[in-house]
Amino acid sequence: MLTDENHSGSGFLLGRRLLMPVNPELLEILVCPACKTSPVVPVNEGAGLKCQACGRVYPVKDDIPVMLIDEATIEGQPSRS
Ligand SMILES: [Zn+2]
Repeated sequence: MLTDENHSGSGFLLGRRLLMPVNPELLEILVCPACKTSPVVPVNEGAGLKCQACGRVYPVKDDIPVMLIDEATIEGQPSRS
């Protein structure tokens, strides 16, 4: 496991680097583990991957998609305002 998160001191603004889009080739093979066949699409500027079918959003940590149902959050639920 490589990590460069601790490289920059608090005096720099480099700690928060731009989020890179997930590799398109990787996206093609990623499917929602809950739906099995549904492709996922990047959301939140690449910070998450959303299943179009069930609305689960899987987190992307260090550019690594975490395709675990337990890690997913569900978006798109109707707001009750
Ligand atoms: Zn799904």
